[in-house]
Amino acid sequence: MMDDIDLELFNKLEALNPDIKTCMACGLCTATCTTGKFTDMSFRKVILMLQRGKDKEAIEKVKSCMMCGKCMMVCSRGINTRNILLSITRIYNER
Ligand code: SF4
Ligand code: SF4
Repeated sequence: MMDDIDLELFNKLEALNPDIKTCMACGLCTATCTTGKFTDMSFRKVILMLQRGKDKEAIEKVKSCMMCGKCMMVCSRGINTRNILLSITRIYNER
């Protein structure tokens, strides 16, 4: 049930990084991801997982991120994806 989903991490993330709301799921970030060529890392999928309360799965993906910032350079909405990835780990570890 939707009511049972814990969205605490996503809500905190969105409050800290309101630019997440402007993501149009174009997939450019995923297409250019350095790690994505070798793993199933995908910024877009990480955000989708967090929106569904799947924090543990999302964090496992984020662990393979090299923080290279390429996704941020290509984002069609200018979203600071690198900063968001850092925030995800920080919020998760603070809980
Ligand atoms: S910062 Fe992470 S998610 Fe973004 S392109 Fe680099 S490895 Fe991929
Ligand atoms: S490139 Fe930007 S707008 Fe497109 S899916 Fe990635 S974060 Fe969202």
